[in-house]
Amino acid sequence: MAEETESNVAIENLAAVIGECRKCPLWENTHHAVPGEGNPRAGLMLIGEAPGKQEDLTGRPFVGRAGKLLEGLLSGIGLTRDDVFIANIVKHRPPGNRDPRDEEILACTPYLEEQIRIIRPKVIVMLGRHSSRYILSFLPVEFDRITEIRGTVYPALLFGHPVRLIPTLHPAAALYNPGYRESLEEDFRIIGRELAAAGNSTRQD
Ligand code: SF4
Repeated sequence: MAEETESNVAIENLAAVIGECRKCPLWENTHHAVPGEGNPRAGLMLIGEAPGKQEDLTGRPFVGRAGKLLEGLLSGIGLTRDDVFIANIVKHRPPGNRDPRDEEILACTPYLEEQIRIIRPKVIVMLGRHSSRYILSFLPVEFDRITEIRGTVYPALLFGHPVRLIPTLHPAAALYNPGYRESLEEDFRIIGRELAAAGNSTRQD
């Protein structure tokens, strides 16, 4: 079996497990799990916080207005959704879009970690404070506000594979804030450069 097929199957099998998961109460009153989607051998993985209303209704990540903004940012560095893998740190929508709780993040992040192990991205972009805090907890990096660290490139060894970790703002925060939007565009230029420096955007090995 070719590796591409193995990665596809592994991601799909994991999505099926996530769809049946009851490890925390977040699944209650949701329509769909939102495991994540995209290229299972992507060089670039983007990690948001949690599904919102549109994502819950469709089972797909970043499909609302923030998703459109994200697609525009990807387009600016020559990529589409099909080139990357997009996921969240929790896979079911928190009620009323509240922040995910520590125990929910603890219950759910083994799925994200497994996705990272399967995909082995060269660059991981953390969209917003929650995913940045979680992923950077593997490094000795602490911060109070995402604006302190956004656009910084952290080379790391994550689950045995070299990767560049780049925190940035959550696209939803930029919907009504032109200054944040400029910051996101600036950070995506850095992301494009780092991805190019890391080689082909899709894993070939
Ligand atoms: S949020 Fe994660 S841990 Fe909680 S039920 Fe959904 S998939 Fe399971």
